[in-house]
Amino acid sequence: MSDYAKNVVDKMNRQILFNMPLGKAIILFSFLFFAIIAVGGSVAYYFAMQKVLGVSSMLELRQTVDTRKLMLKAKLDKEILLMRVLSEFPDIKGHFLNPEDEALKEAGFKALERYASLFHSKMLGWISLKDSNYYVNGQFMEKYDYSNPAHAWFFETLANEHRPRIRVDFDYLNRLIYDLYINYPVYSEGEPIGVLGSRISLFEFLSDLNLPENSYVFGVDGIVVGAPAERIAKEKKNLKEIFGPHGEEVHKKALSLRRKSSSEVLTLGRKHYLISGTGESDLFLVAVYEIDAKKTIKERASIVFLTLLFIMFLVFIVFNKLIIYILRPINRNMLLYIESSLLDELTRLPNRRFFNMKMKDEWSRAIRGRYPICFLMMDLDKFKAYNDTHGHSEGDVLLRETARIFDNCAGRVSDLAARIGGEEFSIILPNTELIGGQKLAESIRANVEKAGKATISIGLVCKVPTLQDSMQDFIDTADQKLYEAKNTGRNKTCW
Ligand code: GH3
Ligand code: MG
Ligand code: MG
Repeated sequence: MSDYAKNVVDKMNRQILFNMPLGKAIILFSFLFFAIIAVGGSVAYYFAMQKVLGVSSMLELRQTVDTRKLMLKAKLDKEILLMRVLSEFPDIKGHFLNPEDEALKEAGFKALERYASLFHSKMLGWISLKDSNYYVNGQFMEKYDYSNPAHAWFFETLANEHRPRIRVDFDYLNRLIYDLYINYPVYSEGEPIGVLGSRISLFEFLSDLNLPENSYVFGVDGIVVGAPAERIAKEKKNLKEIFGPHGEEVHKKALSLRRKSSSEVLTLGRKHYLISGTGESDLFLVAVYEIDAKKTIKERASIVFLTLLFIMFLVFIVFNKLIIYILRPINRNMLLYIESSLLDELTRLPNRRFFNMKMKDEWSRAIRGRYPICFLMMDLDKFKAYNDTHGHSEGDVLLRETARIFDNCAGRVSDLAARIGGEEFSIILPNTELIGGQKLAESIRANVEKAGKATISIGLVCKVPTLQDSMQDFIDTADQKLYEAKNTGRNKTCW
């Protein structure tokens, strides 16, 4: 296959392949294809994984929070039920109605003492509305009155009508700590007569819940009363100290829960907070979950991920080989086709068809570029006689040798020598002045003569073409000049 045809094919390939040779383009394009699939696949995989992990983690979180909520509710319900039972005790009601009666007081104390062992709390208090005396475990503490805001809970509970008042509150009398108070109104014939109260150490109460990592229990005021780490629970930090700026949002969300026992997810940045109310009590559960995709993918998905990448890489290699395998014969056929349609079989020079195409291109380019174009029309002298003397095949050899001389003399990339007829050749010299054309013509003529087998006559034209000029006239003039050379002695150039 001739270099010339290869060049032509390469040029054509480059025209459609961003100025790249075919082999390079195949590798580059299939690599790009692979890269797009690999990157696209990885991104999709990453997000899918993140989504899946997010959903599964959220489910897990919901389960643990719901379990803790149930546990907490069960514990509270037991306390509330006992309070309710006690509130119906005749001995207690008797004492509340007649607090001055020492015998009734004794009986009431006894009843509470007897049942105290069933409570989680060992601190039981009561107040009769009649004398407003506050007793804890049978000990008189203080007298209650409306004007003291610290006593408000008592009056609020009285108004609660058979419902407990459950609050996380300060124990301002003994120790400055938060406890859980369950206060229950005692009614007689539809009228409130006093309040029973139990106080539960929140820390102990909540530590039974075994809170998982990153989950906390907090009260209405945002103070954290239960945490997986004993230290945090004991220090009674507020939400802000634990969650930073998110703490306030979590607190707000908890207070605005649709129902006191519903759960909602609050997403702030990459963190998800599952906030859950616990019903009657003032307690809320919050569990935090952060999607750390890097960590999760590293831990759970990296092997799958790498395997996928590896498979994609194998696909790339196979794909690459396949494309090359498919394209190789196509490319070869293309070369053969171009050779047969554009090159002359004998001399391997471009043929007339190719010359016509090229001539048109160069003519218009010279018009645009306003530069001169030289054109040589050549014909071997007395070639008929040469054929007759040496035989047709020797004539063919001479034609080939002459073609090599043209190739050697017209050295610029843009120069084009073509065989346009039997022993007629032409050369296009774009961007060449007349003097350059003359030099080249002379060197061709001299070289043919020097080879010693024949001589050649040359017609030369040179012009800076304009739109008004005709290409055909230009070619015809060269033809006329050739005949002039023939008629004036041959082995010469006329212009
Ligand atoms: P002139 O100097 O006037 O050109 O004389 P000439 O004999 O070369 O005349 P002409 O150009 O008319 O002759 C062309 C001859 O070229 C005719 C033919 O024998 C020969 N010829 C054309 N094509 C081929 C070819 O492919 N191979 C060979 N061997 N000869 C060819
Ligand atoms: Mg001829
Ligand atoms: Mg001739």
